[in-house]
Amino acid sequence: MDTIYDVIILGGGPAGLAAGLYAGRSRLHTLLIEKGADGGQIALSSEVENYPGQLAEGESGPALAARMAKQAENFGVVRCLDTIRSVNLTGSVKILSGSKGDYQGRSVIIAAGSVPKRIGCVNEDKFIGKGISFCAACDAAFFRDLPVFVVGGGDSAVEEALFLTKFARSVTLIHRRDSLRAAKSIQEKAFQNPKISFLWNSVVEKTDGSDLLGSITVRNVKSGEQSVFRADPKDGLLGLFVFIGHDPNTKLFQGVLELENGFIKTDENMRTNLPGVFAAGDIRVKSLRQAVTAAADGAVAAVQAELYIG
Ligand code: NAP
Repeated sequence: MDTIYDVIILGGGPAGLAAGLYAGRSRLHTLLIEKGADGGQIALSSEVENYPGQLAEGESGPALAARMAKQAENFGVVRCLDTIRSVNLTGSVKILSGSKGDYQGRSVIIAAGSVPKRIGCVNEDKFIGKGISFCAACDAAFFRDLPVFVVGGGDSAVEEALFLTKFARSVTLIHRRDSLRAAKSIQEKAFQNPKISFLWNSVVEKTDGSDLLGSITVRNVKSGEQSVFRADPKDGLLGLFVFIGHDPNTKLFQGVLELENGFIKTDENMRTNLPGVFAAGDIRVKSLRQAVTAAADGAVAAVQAELYIG
């Protein structure tokens, strides 16, 4: 624990891994801390089709993340699996305290991303992992030949609905409005897919069942009418996949860094309000949260960290 790194990167998504690549290439002594699997949000993506140069059709987010991680490691980035519990970022040496110990760095790049939002319906907690999922790439295979519902109208919901058609008997997309937010090219694919149907102006109010998810209650927000969708007794299970956006992982930084709507405020050089502390990727205030913009943030943050240390 006596080591003082030049840069500590918190998070192994596209932002953190790109920061690692750039810091490593600059020969900075770099530690990257991740609490789970690499890839951040793209680890939950069954297919990434808009990362520049990503042409292998059907290549998953985890496969892309694994290549990013290997590239950073090739440049000497030290990896560590730990969950950070508290931070002290005000001094010239920053301290991140995790379950396994303290980590010290002259600069810190926060690339801790975000977590999927919950629906907030009745019994949601009870059925997470028992019918409710936030990751099609992880759980689609459990719903082979079963009816599946998807909540959301953005890129994630529509892309994952398309992916789910490879497994499910049917996919019903439930959206709170009457038009999708997703990119037009993805929408077109969904409208043409015979396995996908749509419940417009609708929200999930309640989930029910004994042990596994057996029914969902949906309310039409315009008419107020409620409909209950029940699993066929032969199946005994429905799938409910939720893709309604993300909340930033900024709990550790409340009262420490300047936040806006929960996201970390930075300037265009990824600098936060504290010297030597940078933020990159989905965790910061920005207009477009994509793997490509996260990676770009990471590169900028690493270059700025090098300038700061210098
Ligand atoms: P998003 O774009 O924020 O979309 C969230 C969707 O969920 C919206 O349709 C929203 O409805 C709906 N929603 C939000 N809160 C809800 C609630 N409480 N109840 C019901 N519905 C709710 O999130 P995302 O799809 O996860 O995408 C996040 C970012 O990643 C976006 O910038 C997206 O472009 C990007 N992304 C890109 C790709 C890709 O390009 N391949 C793939 C995945 C994600 P409203 O439309 O009514 O607001």
